[in-house]
Amino acid sequence: MMSFSRALVNFIFPPKCLLCGQTLEDALDDRPCPCCLSQIKFLSHPRCPRCGLGFVTPAEDDHLCSGCITAERFFTTARAIGSYEGLMVEIISRFKYQGASRLAKPLSTLLSEYKDPELPFPEFDLILPVPLHPQRLRKRGFNQSLLLARRVSRQHSIALDFKSLQRIRHTQPQTELSGAERQKNIHGAFEIRNSFVIEGKRLLLIDDVFTTGATVQECSKVLLKAGAKRVDVLTLARVL
Ligand SMILES: [Zn+2]
Ligand SMILES: [Zn+2]
Repeated sequence: MMSFSRALVNFIFPPKCLLCGQTLEDALDDRPCPCCLSQIKFLSHPRCPRCGLGFVTPAEDDHLCSGCITAERFFTTARAIGSYEGLMVEIISRFKYQGASRLAKPLSTLLSEYKDPELPFPEFDLILPVPLHPQRLRKRGFNQSLLLARRVSRQHSIALDFKSLQRIRHTQPQTELSGAERQKNIHGAFEIRNSFVIEGKRLLLIDDVFTTGATVQECSKVLLKAGAKRVDVLTLARVL
């Protein structure tokens, strides 16, 4: 039951879907409206159990993708909410490049409500955002991954750590590069400060998009090297 005061607030300020702006009958607690949700292609099985890559043939069982068979993965499990296409591309681009930081609310709700036995929120010791280089941070004004990670950390009462993992090298935007170039470009871009904070800890790394995974791979590598027990990754979207 909605309280009287909530109903009154809803009457004066009709709740709107934060993604599309459509007026809603009911306040949905920061969740996107049903229409927006129906346009997101949520990822599930069959998929690669390691990196979360979705397979197109629905009859297949989960199995390792060729990337996870041939290359070393430093994260244990990577998952994404939806496929990076359609509405998801538009929303993330508004969130990142058009300064629509208010989108952090509904987007982080999607992350917080994600359920997967490989990513049990109560078992994470720390949540870390993928850091931006200070130069890019100044230009954009905010780190989109930190906005998401902060809300997820609050929603699940898990400590947020945005200091241990630092970006020390300004790199060319990954979007302009091919798979192999991305890996080379990102190599050595991160550094750990105060490794005692992450030592022996199980970490959840948050980012907006998993493209080839080169960025989260590199982050996971330096985190493990600095003593983290395990690193898992959760992103809003994944390129299939
Ligand atoms: Zn909507
Ligand atoms: Zn894989």
